[in-house]
Amino acid sequence: MNNCIFCDIIEKIIPSKILYEDDLCLVFEDIAPQAPTHILSIPKNHIEKISDMKQTDKSLIGHLVYSLKKIASQKNLSEDGYRIVINCGELGGQMVDHLHVHLLAGRQMNWPPG
Ligand code: 5GP
Ligand code: ZN
Repeated sequence: MNNCIFCDIIEKIIPSKILYEDDLCLVFEDIAPQAPTHILSIPKNHIEKISDMKQTDKSLIGHLVYSLKKIASQKNLSEDGYRIVINCGELGGQMVDHLHVHLLAGRQMNWPPG
């Protein structure tokens, strides 16, 4: 009851295209993809943003990144490459206040990012 769309996705109240799920994380397709492949990995417990990360969350964040790495391998994206992004707070461009790691792939990424 915390009014969080990603918690509602975890609870399956809001439907999503789920690619992977375990006790700690959910990986699903972004609803408004910014690349041919755009996937999000989120923790099942509600952490608002990366700046709220505690020392005890270190392995959880690694788990989120590893879940995306595994799916990228399954989708044969590893050779071409991809981008993994965490937006934090207003200036970081974070729109949803439930920590999420983006994986973008399938097109040339630009640097610096917008
Ligand atoms: P942020 O800008 O916070 O880093 O990224 C939030 C991401 O969540 C955006 O890429 C946006 O398209 C995605 N998103 C927002 N609402 C939903 C939703 O209801 N379902 C799914 N699958 N993705 C969403
Ligand atoms: Zn949440």
